[in-house]
Amino acid sequence: MYYPFSWLKNLLRIGGFYVIVILIGLYFDALAIAIAFGSTWLLGFYSWHMYRFNRWIWHSKKMTPPKVPGFWEHVYEGVYYIQRRNRRKRKELTRMVKRFREGSEALPDATVVVDSNACIVWCNRLARIELGLRWPQDSGRRVDNLIRHPKFIEYFHSGKYDYPVEVPSPSNVQKIFEYRIMPYGEDHLLLIARDVTRLTQLEQMRKDFVANVSHELRTPLTVLNGYLEMLPNTENVPPAFLKKALGEMRSQSERMQNLVEELLVLSRIEASSERVFEKPVNVPQMLSAIQVEANTLNKDKGHQIDFDIDASLKVYGIETELRSAFSNLIFNAINYTPSPGKIVVTWNRQDGHAHFSVKDNGEGIPEKHLNRLTERFYRVDKARSRKTGGSGLGLSIVKHVLTHHNSKLEITSEIGVGSEFSFSFSSELSVQNPSTGKLEKTN
Ligand code: ADP
Repeated sequence: MYYPFSWLKNLLRIGGFYVIVILIGLYFDALAIAIAFGSTWLLGFYSWHMYRFNRWIWHSKKMTPPKVPGFWEHVYEGVYYIQRRNRRKRKELTRMVKRFREGSEALPDATVVVDSNACIVWCNRLARIELGLRWPQDSGRRVDNLIRHPKFIEYFHSGKYDYPVEVPSPSNVQKIFEYRIMPYGEDHLLLIARDVTRLTQLEQMRKDFVANVSHELRTPLTVLNGYLEMLPNTENVPPAFLKKALGEMRSQSERMQNLVEELLVLSRIEASSERVFEKPVNVPQMLSAIQVEANTLNKDKGHQIDFDIDASLKVYGIETELRSAFSNLIFNAINYTPSPGKIVVTWNRQDGHAHFSVKDNGEGIPEKHLNRLTERFYRVDKARSRKTGGSGLGLSIVKHVLTHHNSKLEITSEIGVGSEFSFSFSSELSVQNPSTGKLEKTN
């Protein structure tokens, strides 16, 4: 409600008061005393209301003004009106800030607002988690004192924010963040940090992959080219050398063919959307076919290879993929175990899971290599692996096949004792005996 202030009304009130005081003074023949008394009362009245007004403004918890007469009612209502208007505005502002904060919290990136003095004005939850900022403790602290990586500091002070910069996270160096700064408003900066670890890794993997494939192809191609350059002058070349050259050329082209085939297998598995639960695979039969191939490969090596196979244990899966995984592990054991070694291949049921393992008594693999063996083109001993015709993709294929079948390759190895490569399939992948509904059992 609006209370208009009227000077005239107020003066009339004061005037009326003094008329009464003067009349009383005249009646009692004490005009001066009556005026002095009246003025003192008026002063006291105003002082009392000023005191109440002061208490209401500063100390009272009540918003509504007390009921007071005349001029004071106007003052109280005016202040009350301003208070209500401010309160409404404050509420609106709070709602807006809340909405903005909720929106920023929902952002998938760490967000920090920085003022013209590089001090943090606000940051969202992700900035606290990913950049290690503390809230509200870090409010008002310089952002370049908290994110201290030299690359970030250089970017922050450069003032050139057209391009983002990639910097390791202050709370976890394994993570890479892309920082982007956007100036806005009056000298404020919006700092957005996005986790690009996976993208960076993918980019690095792509670069490594291209470099590795080129490198793998370059060696056999160099050998082939070297021999081919000699071919026009074969008259002077001794036949024995020519025979050796042709043999070498054949083995190098086989190596390239092998590499390309394995790359194709790998990309087929990666792109495969075939469902593993549909077709049963007769693993014992598959293993006996692999056994024949293994015996051929083992002719020069002369290892003792024992196959301990549960003849009834079949699983659901993708036959071509499983054949690739089983044979890679068995052929690796033959290739990397010094002759004459002992290799045991097991396919049986363990705790309800179908379990496969290849154990050899070779030289063993140093522990630092174990985690990296399934990386593409990773080899423990490059020269030896090339001699065996290995592309460095075998275990990578095994890993992908097993991931596709919800399993994982386990590798244990001890120097001078040997290595064991094994994996298990979950009981859901085991083929049930149709007549009993139970898992098929040996013997
Ligand atoms: P490759 O095609 O070169 O054999 P793999 O991916 O199959 O590549 O194997 C990677 C590396 O792991 C091999 O180069 C070899 O050094 C090591 N390796 C694999 N199997 C064995 C094993 N049974 N014993 C010792 N080392 C092995």
